[in-house]
Amino acid sequence: MKSLSCALILLWLLQTSSAQTPSNWKIMDMDRPRPAVVDPGPPLPENRTTTAPSDAVVLFDGTDLSQWCALDGGPTQWILGNGYMECVEGSGYIRTVRNFGDCQLHLEFATPAAVEGTGQGRGNSGVFLMGLYEVQVLDSYDNVTYADGQAAALYGQYPPLVNACRPPGAWQSYDIIFHRPCFGSNGTAIQPARVTVLHNGVLVQDHAALRGPTAWMQRKPYQPHPDKLPLALQDHGNPVRYRNIWIRELPVPGTREAGRAEITLPEAMYDDYPGTYQNADDPEWLITITCEERQVRGHIIDHVAPLDFFPERKDRLFCKTVDTEIEFVRDSAGRVTGLSLFQGGAEIRARRRP
Ligand code: MG
Repeated sequence: MKSLSCALILLWLLQTSSAQTPSNWKIMDMDRPRPAVVDPGPPLPENRTTTAPSDAVVLFDGTDLSQWCALDGGPTQWILGNGYMECVEGSGYIRTVRNFGDCQLHLEFATPAAVEGTGQGRGNSGVFLMGLYEVQVLDSYDNVTYADGQAAALYGQYPPLVNACRPPGAWQSYDIIFHRPCFGSNGTAIQPARVTVLHNGVLVQDHAALRGPTAWMQRKPYQPHPDKLPLALQDHGNPVRYRNIWIRELPVPGTREAGRAEITLPEAMYDDYPGTYQNADDPEWLITITCEERQVRGHIIDHVAPLDFFPERKDRLFCKTVDTEIEFVRDSAGRVTGLSLFQGGAEIRARRRP
């Protein structure tokens, strides 16, 4: 009897831990049942800039693209329209300058009013959380495609619970609550990413546990990654529009704070820093800076473990585990010639070795 009640409790826990758990449907399976269509109610206003709460980071209020760039950090080719931005075919994904992990995200999008194409070729874009995990954007208003690839699907993994699409050209909203995956010290995912999505105010993803990053025609396993990365929007060749984008960083688990704001630098800038830097007053003191896959690392002589540094802005980086910061110094030609290391209330200046 006792084991029966234990089994029942376990079953209950399994059922309530997530409304959506992985299924055994094939990826892009046209036999997978498509969600019921739900009318989401009255349309959004035709013109609006931002509805951001006071503690949100406004990523786009319809007037400038300063929070966005191309994936390599260069300027984006997406068009700024009257209160919206629009994807330009072939211009590539765009990403935020700032990095985000756990977050509440609001955005509005409109697929083209002039309907062209079918299936995945109609109003396709996507919201890539941390640049890795896609909430599909698609014109799924009277447009058949595979269930795990329609609007508000967690692409290739979970169809939305219902189809709450508005017609082509109408403004639609996503409200997304995202918890990043957590990795153990050996790099395995000990907690999957979790995604909740409201599409036009209707719950369509309920704390769904992702199996891994978004991939096309395959299930890729998790790869360890930083706890904050840029948010990206997909160029899938269709002129999808976005407006009113804001984000609230959620507290790091076990704390009440979201951690310090950080950015991802333009790709080429990460080549500026590596080298060995020597203190002019104490030539024995050295710090060697390396950079691998955009992770800047400082090996201070005699320190047992290297320190990972994260950019707060161009040339100013901070460490998350020790109260230590680095500011790189450039000459008039823009070359990095030295650095200041701030630690324990002291500043150590070091020149770059030739
Ligand atoms: Mg897409």
